[in-house]
Amino acid sequence: MLQFVPEQGPVARARLEYAFRLFCAIYGHEPITEDLRNSSDMVITYAPTCAEGDVCLTKARRFRPLLEPAPEPIRYQSEEDATVLFHGPEDGREPDWLAEIFEWVSCADEYACRKHDSVGRVPFEACYVGRHGLNPRKPYAAVAMAFLQKAIARVKPQVSTRPMCPVGSAQHLVVNTHDVDLLPMHRISSSYRIAKNALISLTLFRRTEVATQQCKTAARVALGAPDPLDQINFLTKQEQKHNASASYYFLPRRDHRRDGNYSLQQASPVMWSLQNDGIEVGVHGSYRNMERQYGLGAEFDQMHRVGLHPIGTRQHWLRFTIPQLVRNVGLAGAGYDTSLGWPYHAGFRAGACFAFPPYDFEQEAPANFLEIPLALMDQVALKAGRDNGSDPIAETLAASRRYGWGGISVVWHPTAFGGGQYPMEVGNRFWQLLEDAQDHHEKWLSGESFLRLAWPRYQNAGLLPARGWK
Ligand SMILES: [Zn+2]
Repeated sequence: MLQFVPEQGPVARARLEYAFRLFCAIYGHEPITEDLRNSSDMVITYAPTCAEGDVCLTKARRFRPLLEPAPEPIRYQSEEDATVLFHGPEDGREPDWLAEIFEWVSCADEYACRKHDSVGRVPFEACYVGRHGLNPRKPYAAVAMAFLQKAIARVKPQVSTRPMCPVGSAQHLVVNTHDVDLLPMHRISSSYRIAKNALISLTLFRRTEVATQQCKTAARVALGAPDPLDQINFLTKQEQKHNASASYYFLPRRDHRRDGNYSLQQASPVMWSLQNDGIEVGVHGSYRNMERQYGLGAEFDQMHRVGLHPIGTRQHWLRFTIPQLVRNVGLAGAGYDTSLGWPYHAGFRAGACFAFPPYDFEQEAPANFLEIPLALMDQVALKAGRDNGSDPIAETLAASRRYGWGGISVVWHPTAFGGGQYPMEVGNRFWQLLEDAQDHHEKWLSGESFLRLAWPRYQNAGLLPARGWK
């Protein structure tokens, strides 16, 4: 049970209760409200006098206005782990772990960020993690939850310190997704694209051997050889062999030069074929959809009109700000979104290696969809071993496995396989991860499958409404 003190007003209570319910959803606790105190076997309290057997949190200062950046991080170390805090603890009390969870998961600091890159995104360097030189691959919200659970286990030793996965046979869940930015149309246009990729391999990745190979491939494709950018068929078959499912997101609209190379009509046969095979098809929100009122909703409607049943989405180019994302995904009626990540950095933008309904500051309540944060992207595979021999992919997955049961998403574009866009190692790394998954009791699954398994946890914690995919 969570116990407040009278000076905590409705806004503070709504935010802390949201963090409390989220903690309960991840750890598999049953949240009890104050009026049912007698049925609770555990009390987390802000009361100034701390009864024995209670977990006593420091009452953090007021919540700052949304346009004010978060305070500087404070280093915090215990015997078990190290982290950073937004607010220091009082003597003899735990830090306000719920306020810490709230700060990270709500991304409140990003609301104050005025800097945008040329695409209109908040750059990594301007985010809290980037600005303060924190580790993007440490899931700080999950770390705060782990500290809170340990505090509970100190007064209730029978309590496990591990969060409980909703799937008995697995320990970690990875939502496996593919953004379809490009569909092979004609061998001449594919040949031209591969030649262009050769130039990128040479100038951006400095990989002469890859560029040479791609030049040769471009010539062969022009003469009728198989197109290495045509990968969806191969990908779905291989995934099946690996016992993995996946979500494929398509762009329903094309009204900017950075959108895909196909129209909804051109992509429909591929999408129908996937849907008929029981493979999830979702909405890849087009480049400009968030500039329009109900823009994303209209793209869901377009898919429905051609007989598709999307429930999940990701923003193309990760082009969004957090308030736009929360409002538009909610308006579209989607079940889940997978956009919340950085375009060029692996890790945890909301400090979360778990799925969560984002906090809606306009309503002071949780949004009614699940965010499955994007933790890994195909191109990160090119960075492995580059910076001091570090491997961002391995580090991200290891951190997520250490602190939770997953609920993060990863994206490999279909064209990342086959060597037509990136070096072969990018696609190979994906298959290696699927093979390694077994050793970690890890399941790679579509967003839709994840939603069916995990939604009841958030619903039972009072965070999400009952919906059809239970
Ligand atoms: Zn895209």
